[in-house]
Amino acid sequence: MTNNVRIVMVQTSHPGNIGAAARAMKNMCLSELVLVDPKRFPCDEATVRASGADDLLASARVVGSLADAIADCRIVIGASARLRSVSWPLVTPREAAALALAEAPTAPVSIVFGRESSGLSNDELDLCTHLVHIPTNPEYSSLNVAMAVQVLAYELMVADIDATTPTESMEDVASNAEMEGFFGHLEQALDEIGFTDERRSAKLMRRLRRLFHRATPASDEINILRGILSAAQGRKSMRRDAGD
Ligand code: SAH
Repeated sequence: MTNNVRIVMVQTSHPGNIGAAARAMKNMCLSELVLVDPKRFPCDEATVRASGADDLLASARVVGSLADAIADCRIVIGASARLRSVSWPLVTPREAAALALAEAPTAPVSIVFGRESSGLSNDELDLCTHLVHIPTNPEYSSLNVAMAVQVLAYELMVADIDATTPTESMEDVASNAEMEGFFGHLEQALDEIGFTDERRSAKLMRRLRRLFHRATPASDEINILRGILSAAQGRKSMRRDAGD
């Protein structure tokens, strides 16, 4: 649930960057934009760069200070192009997204982006509970601010998709007894169709066990596999019956 995650842009100089950030946000299902003392806003340039995400610009809140923007948040993640020597808890964009999504059902979360020229001041960083740095070329680490918004917004979207996609229910996964039944059947079938001899059977079965356990098949998938084995065995014995 990303709808309690707020993007805060501090004293952005270029209105085009505000528009591009709004576009990036809307692409990734974020909607709450707060602008701290922007140089020029509202502005046609922002609207043009928003390219259809003008609803986000229209609902953007303009405030006078970072403190005002984040007053109701417990988790405030400052995005920094530089790795600072001061020890704020530093998270990756992926960890920042996980942190934000874990908090969002309880309280709003802010991700804060600094000025194009000088980033965030130390006083502003003091208001942050965490820092996020997007890994970059160490000799060229500063992204355009709207692109930095895009990266974090994307991570939030992916984390949200992961959180809401149901994983296979453990109820469906084949039990140990079903797996053992399958392995016994497989060994027998491989023997009957002349694929294995006793000498190589144990080693091969160990590798096949590893392969099928890695796949964590569901009960009905095991039934399909056993159906295939039975068919192969039947065909073999039919051929045998026909004098093959
Ligand atoms: N010259 C500034 C860079 C500003 S870039 C400086 O040295 O701090 C504008 C904003 O984009 C930054 O304040 C930060 O919020 C964001 N940003 C740019 N690159 C980033 C990166 N690699 N990781 C995290 N945020 C980044």
